[in-house]
Amino acid sequence: MRVLVFNAGSSSLKFGVFDTGTDNVQLFKGSFERFRDGQCNFRFCTDTRDEAGEAPHSDLSAAIAAVPGVLADWGIDGLRAIGHRIAHGGAEFAAPARLDSATLAMIDGLTPLAPLHNPANLEAVHIAMSVWPELPQIGVFDTSYHLTNPARATTYAVPKAWRQAGLRRYGFHGTSHKYVAERAAQEIGQPVSALRIISVHLGNGASVCAVNLGLSMDSSMGLTPLEGLVMGTRSGDVDPGAFGFLSRQLGLSVTEIEAALYNDSGLKALAGSSDMRDVEDRAAAGESDAQLAINLYAYRVRKYIGAYAAAMGGLDAVVFTGGIGENSASMRRRICDGLEFMGLRLDHDLNQAVQLDNRAAPQIQAYGAKVRVIVTETAEQLQIAREVATALARPTTLPEPIPVAVSARHVHLSPEAVAALFGPGYELTPGKPLRQPGNWAAQERVTVEGPKGRLERVAILGPMRGQTQIEVSRTDSFALGIDAPVRDSGQLAGTPRVRLHGPAGSYDTDGLIVAARHIHISPADAQARGLADGDFVDVRITGPERGLTFTRTLIRVQPGAFTEMHIDTDEANAAGIRAGSEGELVPGVAAQAVTPAR
Ligand code: ADP
Repeated sequence: MRVLVFNAGSSSLKFGVFDTGTDNVQLFKGSFERFRDGQCNFRFCTDTRDEAGEAPHSDLSAAIAAVPGVLADWGIDGLRAIGHRIAHGGAEFAAPARLDSATLAMIDGLTPLAPLHNPANLEAVHIAMSVWPELPQIGVFDTSYHLTNPARATTYAVPKAWRQAGLRRYGFHGTSHKYVAERAAQEIGQPVSALRIISVHLGNGASVCAVNLGLSMDSSMGLTPLEGLVMGTRSGDVDPGAFGFLSRQLGLSVTEIEAALYNDSGLKALAGSSDMRDVEDRAAAGESDAQLAINLYAYRVRKYIGAYAAAMGGLDAVVFTGGIGENSASMRRRICDGLEFMGLRLDHDLNQAVQLDNRAAPQIQAYGAKVRVIVTETAEQLQIAREVATALARPTTLPEPIPVAVSARHVHLSPEAVAALFGPGYELTPGKPLRQPGNWAAQERVTVEGPKGRLERVAILGPMRGQTQIEVSRTDSFALGIDAPVRDSGQLAGTPRVRLHGPAGSYDTDGLIVAARHIHISPADAQARGLADGDFVDVRITGPERGLTFTRTLIRVQPGAFTEMHIDTDEANAAGIRAGSEGELVPGVAAQAVTPAR
């Protein structure tokens, strides 16, 4: 499918045309920048032709309006959809959304959260809609990827009324972090859902993202793209007490302080240039301001890497991207220096020799280092084109409702656990068969003990598994006194420990989780519904008393599976689910996706 992607910023318009078949080829790349009186700079290129110069457009609107003519001149036709990068989707947009009057009004309503970016994005949408009224227009949001961040990462400890007004951490650069984390996982040869990755995007704007087992868990940008790292012209982290201090000492207004933190801070304030190349040249020439700027820049990134490794309880890979992350070997070295204690060591020759042509993602860690270090070019527009194609490929109506099964707390035991709890050589007694073929509830029960309490007579589900796994609800985890993470079955690295008691003894084990909701489905049923293993869908439950839409429900395709959604007791109670309840897949593009409440 041919997709035109717009990335309209406050001072530039970038656009690209992609063929999102198997190869995801970029057919055309264009930009208009440095708008000034009556003109701007342009650059257009394809594989075989590259042109740059000045164009007679003095603002963004004129530049967007010129795009159809440019594409016609370059022989680019056959567009099937348009994707728009939208900076802020708030808590409302957890997935790409079809842009229509309702969704545009919602995006407009989010303008106070992104006063520079959202209006420019919307302008591009309005012009594109008038030029290509027949094409679907899809918004892809920089914030969506981070909506999986847990509340402890998104909440500021501020008065409730402020939080109710929308003051929370959102995080940005989501499309880039998602792309590079997946590209790194591909390079490593493991699914992203099995890896703990820190994505370090260092461009004019810069942010770090903790990608824990495939989901964004924390990101250094917050309510706005101002929090976190030192950037080209933005300060990153500053004590909020600065506002009072500057107001009293220098008589500055909130607007003046805010403008300076956005536009006159960062590298520009420290070293006189927002461009890292200049700063590095000046530092090399002995300028102490530039040397401090570089040290501070690297130190801040290093602190976040340490923090996010701790937050995830481990680290498999660090990925560098963005203009600085991709091109500055010396900055990568400064950031990584001193992290040897956590198994992160660079190979300096590989670091110097990085080549990123053709979406390469070279590994530059030292031989034997525990943590991989990868460099790759970010490809936000490509990622947007892919997400547009995926969103449009999803069927808009789905045939059958999905039966919903409620899983009460239970354990899966390893042979070692069975021996410890019931005695060597003991075999569990299969009792009631479950709907998934070959699975049963055992007649035996166990007790689960945590630091605060015990859960008695917990069901054991057979057959035995390689690893012991204890699945409880969030409410159960409070009773135990342990903060159990939400995980897919089998993803047990770093999960908390509990003690199990059986008639023959006790067994201490990790593996305590709140099971992520999922749908078991057979290959044929999945195909009929246009779903694939690993997809996430939204499922709407309606009932006489309560109803709920469950977002991010994982599709698990297994031969012979009985199609059924599995949720836990907390989820069932919240949705008012009774025996025999059914859910309905929310069609196609999630126009009004609901934020996961984690
Ligand atoms: P944006 O966030 O606007 O997309 P980029 O990702 O293009 O920005 O990153 C721009 C930054 O990358 C600038 O600070 C620029 O100096 C820096 N950069 C580009 N090439 C190099 C290089 N070879 N060495 C150091 N910094 C570089």
